[in-house]
Amino acid sequence: MAEAAADMAHVLVFPVPAQGHLNSFLHFSTGLLRAGLHVTFLHTDHNLRRLGAAAREAAAASPRLRFLSVPDGLPDDDPRALDGIPRLMETLSTTGGAAYRDLLASLRRRDGRADDGFPPVTCVVADGVMPFAWEIAEELGVPAIAYRTVSACSVLAYMSVPRLIELGELPFPEGGGDLDEPVRGVPGMESFLRRRDLPIECRSLTETHQDPLLKAVVAATARSRKARALMLNTTASLERSSLTHLAQEMRDVFAVGLLHAMFPAPAAATSLWRHDDGCTAWLDGHAERSVVYISLGSLTVISHEQFTEFLRGLVAAGYPFLWVLRPDMLGASQDDALLEAVAAVGEDRALVVPWAPQRDVLRHRAVGCFLTHAGWNSTVEGVAEGVPLVCWPFFVDQQINSRFVGAVWRNGLDMKDVCERDVVERTVREAMESDEIRRSARALAEQVERDIADGGSSAMEFERLVGFIKELSR
Ligand code: UDP
Repeated sequence: MAEAAADMAHVLVFPVPAQGHLNSFLHFSTGLLRAGLHVTFLHTDHNLRRLGAAAREAAAASPRLRFLSVPDGLPDDDPRALDGIPRLMETLSTTGGAAYRDLLASLRRRDGRADDGFPPVTCVVADGVMPFAWEIAEELGVPAIAYRTVSACSVLAYMSVPRLIELGELPFPEGGGDLDEPVRGVPGMESFLRRRDLPIECRSLTETHQDPLLKAVVAATARSRKARALMLNTTASLERSSLTHLAQEMRDVFAVGLLHAMFPAPAAATSLWRHDDGCTAWLDGHAERSVVYISLGSLTVISHEQFTEFLRGLVAAGYPFLWVLRPDMLGASQDDALLEAVAAVGEDRALVVPWAPQRDVLRHRAVGCFLTHAGWNSTVEGVAEGVPLVCWPFFVDQQINSRFVGAVWRNGLDMKDVCERDVVERTVREAMESDEIRRSARALAEQVERDIADGGSSAMEFERLVGFIKELSR
């Protein structure tokens, strides 16, 4: 009977078309496939074209997985870069939304595209910042779950923004006021949260102006109360308090992380950049825990000055380093002089690559610490490997994630809002040398291992989620 329900359950997953979201949804899909469900993974046309053969190979390797796509509404030559995200989200919900409605309407019908052996779609798991995706599904009679690929603490912070405004904690006083001032209005975080730990977009909030990204995420968070459930890539032991508070707001909450460790999927299937595989050979030539790994994710752009301060700080810290510098990361300030400055450090002491196989790198014995922008995927990838973190957050959830690293989990240091060479030098040295931080990072990794092992909280939550999806699919 259970077998029959699994055969019938067919989940359409629909992530935001950005790297971290794609990776997270792919691991989730791998878990669903292992549980015997069918999965349609919905990309944008642009990304599916960019992934090309890698996506086709992944689908060919798994008869119950297929990739389909809808337009994102942007012209082909649009760079889909960080400053264009609000526009992308807008066109995805309008142009993309219309195509998605038509597609889902055909896939949910029993006489739908049965020619490829897939049963009708019985459930949608849509990115939690795309409310249109689960609202359209419900309108068509397909039950829908919202999946936020970020930390529970950041979802709770976004949910609390209206309350912070009511309490007068937002907007900040003109000029920003003292960013170290405590914030009291996010439940469970009263003792350690400061203004500077809220999403950076809160800093420009005024009576009359709201950053479009902040506005969109706060609205999506409020609308997710209506989804059948909220799913999060976290564990009960990592974020118990935030999960308890969110559970009071949502119809149901599933903490099913850390998905990349539970259901590792081949990175190439969703990687928008080609991995430089040479870096693991370079790491092989280095001593245990001697290398600093630096990656600021798939979207961040840094200035010429920030690059220079980082480089000087890293060189002064004295450890070899492996640095991911995407070709679009320095924006207009990318020039050969910058890369020459790294080359001058010497090949054995510094390696720059455009994109790395990050999970393999973090697992490598030579890596001693991870300087990260504290994007949630990078944060949990570092947590799972027990690697000390140095956080230099940029936007959205990264400010609050880095506060949890520095003040709650204590598996690293929070270098928020400062990027002077001597701070970089001091912070990197401390993360590389502190026994206390290394012990906390190790202990956290072991704790998470217990969460994801058979009988652990996340393993049981995933089972509960699969049961929930099967129930919705009947
Ligand atoms: N990543 C990677 N190679 C790199 C840098 C990043 O494979 O050189 C992956 C990383 O493992 C993570 C994702 O890209 O899964 C980035 O997601 P995250 O949430 O950390 O940050 P975002 O890119 O969304 O800012």
